[in-house]
Parts: sequence; C-alpha cells; structure tokens
Amino acid sequence: MRIAVPRESDAVETRVAATPETVKKLKTLGFEVTIETGAGTTSRILDADYEAAGAVIAADAAATCAGADVVLKVRRPDAAELKLIKSGALVIAIMDPYGRDAELAAMAEAGVSAFAMEFMPRITRAQVMDVLSSQANLAGYRAVIDAASEFDRAFPMMMTAAGTVPAARVFVMGAGVAGLQAIATARRLGAVVTATDVRPASKEQVESLGAKFIAVEDEEFKQAETAGGYAKPMSEAYQKKQAELVASHITKQDIVITTALIPGRPAPRLVTAEMLASMKPGSVVVDLAVERGGNVEGARAGEVATVSGVKIVGHLNVPGRIAASASALYAKNLVAFLETMVDKASKTLKPNWDDELVKATVLTRDGAVVHPAFAPAQS
Ligand code: NAD
Repeated sequence: MRIAVPRESDAVETRVAATPETVKKLKTLGFEVTIETGAGTTSRILDADYEAAGAVIAADAAATCAGADVVLKVRRPDAAELKLIKSGALVIAIMDPYGRDAELAAMAEAGVSAFAMEFMPRITRAQVMDVLSSQANLAGYRAVIDAASEFDRAFPMMMTAAGTVPAARVFVMGAGVAGLQAIATARRLGAVVTATDVRPASKEQVESLGAKFIAVEDEEFKQAETAGGYAKPMSEAYQKKQAELVASHITKQDIVITTALIPGRPAPRLVTAEMLASMKPGSVVVDLAVERGGNVEGARAGEVATVSGVKIVGHLNVPGRIAASASALYAKNLVAFLETMVDKASKTLKPNWDDELVKATVLTRDGAVVHPAFAPAQS
C-alpha cells in the first residue's frame, strides 16, 4: 500500500497532511509513505524529519503521486493534480464541495474515491477524526491573538502606579467550537467577555467559560437547533430582534469576533455598517466566516480593512496561521480515519463502503458523484 502526500498547491495553504508522527503510524499500518519535497516547510517540518520517520521524499508532485493507493491532502486536488493520481485511489482532504459541481465531476471522471473530511459525522467514535473541531478550535484561539495584535490597547485590566488600564470588552458571535475557544482565550488574556449564539445549548457552555450570554431567548430560540447540533437559519423577525439587541451591545465593545456558520449556506450577516459606525475608533472586528461570505459588512477576504475607524480583520485560512499545530492535529485526524479502512491482519486497504463514516464522507466513487447532497437525482 502506498500513500502520497503532495505539497499543497494553493498558495494560501500552509498546512500539510502528514507529520513525522503520523508517518510513523502509517508505516506501522503497513503503508509506504512518499512525501513531496518541501511539503512540510510552511509547517516547519523538514524533508529530513520525514525521512527520519521512514518516509521517502520525492522531487515533485508527479513522482509523489505515481502509483499511490491513497493521496492525503489538506485541500481538494486541482485538475493538474488529478492527472497525477491513479484511477481507483482514495483521496482524502477538506473538499469544500458546495457550489463546486465541476470540480466534483472532475474527481469522479478521474476515477478517484474522494472523501470530504469535513462531512465526518459528529459522533463519539469519530471525534478523533473531526477536522472541523480540530481546525476551528485553533482558529478561535488565533482570532483572539490576531485581534490583540491589531488592538492598540491592553486586554487585561492593569492597575499601575501611573493609573489603571481598563480590561478590553470582547464580544464573540457564534459559540460553536471556534467561538468557545475564542471565549476561553480572551478570558485567559483578561478581557471581559460576552457571547451570543442562536443555539440554546450554547448558553450554558458560554456561561461555564465565565462569559455572559446575550441573546433574544424567545420560543424560536428555544427550538433553534437541528438534530445534528447545528444552527438553523432564523426567521426574519428573530433576526431583527436579535440585531437590535446586538446593536445596543456592540457599541460598548472593543473587540468583536464572529464565527457564525450554517452548514451548506452562506454565513449569516450579523454585523452591519451601522453597527461598525457605532463602535469606538480603534475597535477591532475579526470575521472568521469571511471565506463563507462573511458575518461582517465590509469584511474583505485576505485583508485587514478599516471602516469608520474600526479594523475589520478578514484573514484567509486562519488555522493555517498557526500551521504547525493545525497540521499536527489535521494529520492525526486523517490517520484515525484511514485506520478504519485498513485490514490490520493482512495490512491491506479495505474500505467498508457501508460504514457510516465512509458513507457520510465519500463524494465520488467508480466514476460517479455518489454523495446524496451532490449526486444527480435518480429518475
Ligand atoms: P459551526 O461552525 O457550524 O457554526 C458556528 C456557530 O455559529 C454555531 O454555534 C452556530 O450555532 C452559530 N450560529 C449560526 N448562525 C448564527 C447566528 N445567526 N447568530 C449567532 N450564532 C450563529 O458550528 P460548530 O462550531 O461546528 O459546532 C456545531 C455544533 O456541533 C455545536 O453544538 C458543537 O458543540 C457541536 N459539536 C459536536 C461534536 C461532537 O463530537 N459531538 C464535535 C464538535 C462540535
């Protein structure tokens, strides 16, 4: 069994799909591992580190992928990469497939079995494979660090001989995995933290981290969680009431961190230009949803914009801004998933196509798009 780990081709991607630690694990599972030279550089992993763990280094993507049974990546392979991968190979990555019908069709045509790690069911058995959690957790942390570095005042209250510096007020919008880590990080830095979410279950989690929960808690709010634990799109009436509450709260905040997402839909717009204008100049807003359309009006993907004296931070690939940690966790998520597809006795690759983890994540197989969310309707 051969595994290939090519260098990520997207310029914004700093993570890598294997680390020396996971190479060792893959070897014990019976895989030969080939890594493209330089694949780990932006995560501070040298070719020599991979070699010491038992991997073979290849000079380019073609030599890396030639004959591989499994290709591990961070991002979906592009057309050029697909040409290098043999038909029938498993390709495992964060596939970002919504609105990407042509790319999905290309993977099907290439004959690869493509798995979207972000579709891993959030069940106990698959927690160790949950890339949304491993990466969002780091993004939430990094969002606060980015906010603190853009902010020209201190986070903690400081009582000094020369006077008192007040604590920063941080408001976190969306209290899922990223938001909860942002709350915890802002609290560790000494900020006064409030947070909001549309899922009622999040209230207790916010409060358990020492932050105050701010939301319109009406009947709709009490029902606003899907069976999968995700947010539902809220009615216009609810959004209006919630926006009024947020508008009066946001004027008093120094830092706002937005993390609100609804799976498969554009991110909800939570912070308007009027709200930004009501904030003190020098305040900082970090939009972690910027790549999915943005929670903040005026946020620009890949930029730090200034609107009404407020800095709006729209960094791309925030987990990749803490690449060594993000790669370490992502690579472990991948190995845990791959392990479920290996027959340990014979050391051969034997995916169980009926396993719920496989069924939930497989997008293409045997030349067709097979995932129910994307497969053409059966007539
Ligand atoms: P997500 O990234 O899809 O969304 C982030 C947050 O934004 C969510 O909390 C969501 O409720 C919130 N949101 C959406 N619309 C909003 C709006 N209009 N205003 C304010 N907030 C809004 O979510 P996630 O971080 O992936 O977590 C989703 C759920 O899954 C959570 O309940 C989380 O605890 C749960 N989870 C479970 C497991 C598990 O293994 N059981 C693992 C990870 C997460």
